[in-house]
Amino acid sequence: MNDIAAVCPCGSAKEYQICCGPYINKSISMPLVPQTAEKLMRSRYTAYVIHNEKYLSESWHHTTRPINISAGQEPVKWVDLTIINTIDGKPGDSEGVVEFIARYKANGKMMKLHEISCFIKENGRWFYLDAAH
Ligand SMILES: [Zn+2]
Repeated sequence: MNDIAAVCPCGSAKEYQICCGPYINKSISMPLVPQTAEKLMRSRYTAYVIHNEKYLSESWHHTTRPINISAGQEPVKWVDLTIINTIDGKPGDSEGVVEFIARYKANGKMMKLHEISCFIKENGRWFYLDAAH
């Protein structure tokens, strides 16, 4: 499950074990929660890359969470993540917005997912709410 490259898939250029790993990997004794909407966004992207549906479900707000979460069926292969902009979403905020482009390959073609995601904090934890329209 954790046999992924040392560099975190989220594009931070940090090692997985000190980047998204502590949020996603529940086998460590003290699971951490991301302190900003952007960190949650990055860790959710990483969870898509490593097909961790459990983490995607946990970090999705209960009011908008799908019943069945699929971390991208084959042949989708996530390539990289670029954060374009963030609004609020800092440790002292209760709402945040993260605009990003996630590139992926599907059927041999490079595709882009450009989304403005909304996040909400409840009881000290950030959750993905939905995509802005
Ligand atoms: Zn990361």
